Amino acid sequence: MITKVRSHITQNELLLFEQSSPGKKGYQLPDLDVPAVDPSTALGAANVRAEIEGFPEVSEVEIIRHFTRLSTWNYAIDLGLYPLGSCTMKYNPRVNELVARLDGLAWAHPYQPESLAQGAMEIMAHLESALAEITGMDAVTLQPAAGAHGELTGILLIRALLEKRGNPRKKVLIPDSAHGTNPATAAIAGYAVENIRSNQRGTVDLAQLERIVDQDVAALMVTNPNTLGVFEENIKSIAEVLHKKGALLYMDGANMNALVGIAQPGAFGVDVMHLNLHKTFSTPHGGGGPGGGPVAVKKAFEPFLPLPRLKRVRSKWTFDYQLPRSIGRVRAFYGNFGVIVRALAYILAHGGNGLRNATVDAVLNANYLRRKLEPHYDLPFQAPNMHEVVFSDDRQAKYGVRTGDIAKRLIDYGFHPYTVSFPLIVRGALMIEPTETEAKRELDLFAEAMAAIAHEAETDPELVRSAPHSTRTSRVDEVTAARRPVLKWKPESPTVKAAD
Ligand SMILES: *Cc1c(COP(=O)(O)O)cnc(C)c1O
Repeated sequence: MITKVRSHITQNELLLFEQSSPGKKGYQLPDLDVPAVDPSTALGAANVRAEIEGFPEVSEVEIIRHFTRLSTWNYAIDLGLYPLGSCTMKYNPRVNELVARLDGLAWAHPYQPESLAQGAMEIMAHLESALAEITGMDAVTLQPAAGAHGELTGILLIRALLEKRGNPRKKVLIPDSAHGTNPATAAIAGYAVENIRSNQRGTVDLAQLERIVDQDVAALMVTNPNTLGVFEENIKSIAEVLHKKGALLYMDGANMNALVGIAQPGAFGVDVMHLNLHKTFSTPHGGGGPGGGPVAVKKAFEPFLPLPRLKRVRSKWTFDYQLPRSIGRVRAFYGNFGVIVRALAYILAHGGNGLRNATVDAVLNANYLRRKLEPHYDLPFQAPNMHEVVFSDDRQAKYGVRTGDIAKRLIDYGFHPYTVSFPLIVRGALMIEPTETEAKRELDLFAEAMAAIAHEAETDPELVRSAPHSTRTSRVDEVTAARRPVLKWKPESPTVKAAD
């Protein structure tokens, strides 16, 4: 029998509180050669923090090692494939980070006078027009800070236009394949949500749509390509059905990485849409950092766009706050500026052909994986797929192995899991989006791992069900962790038990 030896640096790391011992410090200074003063006299009592209970006291090397070790526990796009479907976890070129960190951009302040902010304003205006061209829409606001925020801004714009026409209407139609943020958005904007069932191809059923669109319907929120990675082929007819009845077409553009440089939503009837800069246009995400959810609209919505709007007056940029019909502010200042800079750098560095190639490669990679994995996993929707592909765990479920088990086993093979159990219309979904930045070698390794797991599911299902086996903690009680999280350290709380 082989005994597993644990290297001390991969052991369960102690909390800083547990490493603490009184009097340790992260610095060494020579003895004072001037008289000591009481900090509350020197700084003012209000500026001196009272003792923090149990504040950890550790040496410099202890704290450096602590955080360096913790950092090695993270999976990262810089380590390997991150096939989280819908999220577009692609590698983003470092040069865009470099540009966002240029002093003049990184240190710009939103209260800077306009005369000293012309460069920053030019960048925003340039990105607005680039995104208008990419989407085929007439105007863009960069303010929303994320996709869901863009959705809310977009539906408020739709409400504003319908109100001006005399009736804001009552409900928003949402296909059952939609991202959960869509119904949440419609509800927050004051609309009732009506779900519509997808057809056998996994797309919107035109005949059904025709039956249900009436004077109460404000809009349809559709994701295109949808969350199955399938392009809504009837999108032009969908737009016509809505427009004939005075309803509008909102497109969730989080999947624009399948269309950029190939098709413009503005040309297929979309009225309002958002983009996810942190998916398609170079801002890294996944760690909860800032994002960008610009909204692109047709001409009729322009007067309602959020304040302020960029305006060119006598060859200078200025912010226009005098827009009586605007829905108002949706965010402080003008959007997440660093994200805006990255997006423009990405677009300009790629150029038109480069953007188109990225789209083609994203679709190619997803279809390559589809071909490689089809022999091993059930593919419930057979329609051609674009930038992502959704399998089900149907074949593995016979052996008691579900999508969550397969995902956890992938960790043992060195990959981040795919998206589990989404979209909801696929039972036991495995949603895989490789993105364009992966080379064939990485895709082959992933396909091999997935094939090996399919084999294990048949021959040794328990091995898969109890995975992961290579991590410091294996399965955790996810329900209790979500329902009763322990967020505060107490001296008596036991250290998490290391996995064996
Ligand atoms: C990611 C995503 C969203 C939400 O975007 P956030 O930036 O996370 O708010 C909405 N719809 C789809 C289809 C998405 O993939």
